[in-house]
Amino acid sequence: MRPYLSWIEGLTTNQNATGSNPVGRTSLLADRPLSSGRFFISPCEGRKGSLLKIIDTHVHVFPDALEPHAVEALTVPGRGAHIRGTLAAAQTRMQQLGVSSGWTIPVATRASQVATINEYALTQDRRYFVPFGAMHPDVEDAYGLLSTYKGLGLPGFKMHFDFQEVSPLDARMQPIFDAAVDFGLICYFHAGDDVGPHTCHGSPEVFAQVLDAYPGIRMVLAHLGGWRMWDDVEEHLVGRGDVYFDTAYCAGEMPVGQLLRIILNHGTDKVLFGTDSPWTDLAKEIRFFTARDELSDADKEALFHGNAERLLQS
Ligand SMILES: [Zn+2]
Repeated sequence: MRPYLSWIEGLTTNQNATGSNPVGRTSLLADRPLSSGRFFISPCEGRKGSLLKIIDTHVHVFPDALEPHAVEALTVPGRGAHIRGTLAAAQTRMQQLGVSSGWTIPVATRASQVATINEYALTQDRRYFVPFGAMHPDVEDAYGLLSTYKGLGLPGFKMHFDFQEVSPLDARMQPIFDAAVDFGLICYFHAGDDVGPHTCHGSPEVFAQVLDAYPGIRMVLAHLGGWRMWDDVEEHLVGRGDVYFDTAYCAGEMPVGQLLRIILNHGTDKVLFGTDSPWTDLAKEIRFFTARDELSDADKEALFHGNAERLLQS
């Protein structure tokens, strides 16, 4: 866990996750120190560009009392947290970098945790956070519980099928998917492999079957549709109109060419900027995508906030 000072100093060097050094107008901005705490796009000589609004749709936070243990338990050697996993740390960091809001997506590893996680979600300051609820396949009357989420202000729920040891095709998932469709909830799912459990219940092929079975479902698949299963993503998911991807923990983990191919072929209107904070460096994630000359300014507006806002409002 790096103290803020060294972390901020690190921002002034031209680092990005791939080690590439693109030349172009956005790269000039990517190189600038972040003392202003803001990112700009569309710069013209002698004129300021427009302020880039940023929403991070993939943030993990834990109650203060549990945070040290939770972060330690989830840390894999060589892949430590970049900041504390508290709400305060997330908010401070977002504000330093001009990120306007973060979607917090919790994972319940036992059914009994769902209620307490949801209570915690409801304590979060809505000026900075969009809390998602938790869900677990063993929850009794999952349909009934999910029917309350929208009324509570929870736009959807997060699940991680490997920590929860269930396939998305398991019969226990049916009432959960039914509720998601009936109540318009956003299903935010871990997808693909994981740095922790390597069981991979949620493969791109399996998610394609779920999407086929539940027309109208609103689904976000983290990690560009399937972490370290990106060939399968391209085979089974890319181009579908009914699924969003987020960008969490992808930069530096896959060839940049494939990353861009997935985003552009899937459609820049269906990709959300997410970071997996605190497990990645928010500044590096922002820098990586703002510096991509292959994405137009309109693409970046969509990726960094437009798609998230539209998904939340629909
Ligand atoms: Zn995550």
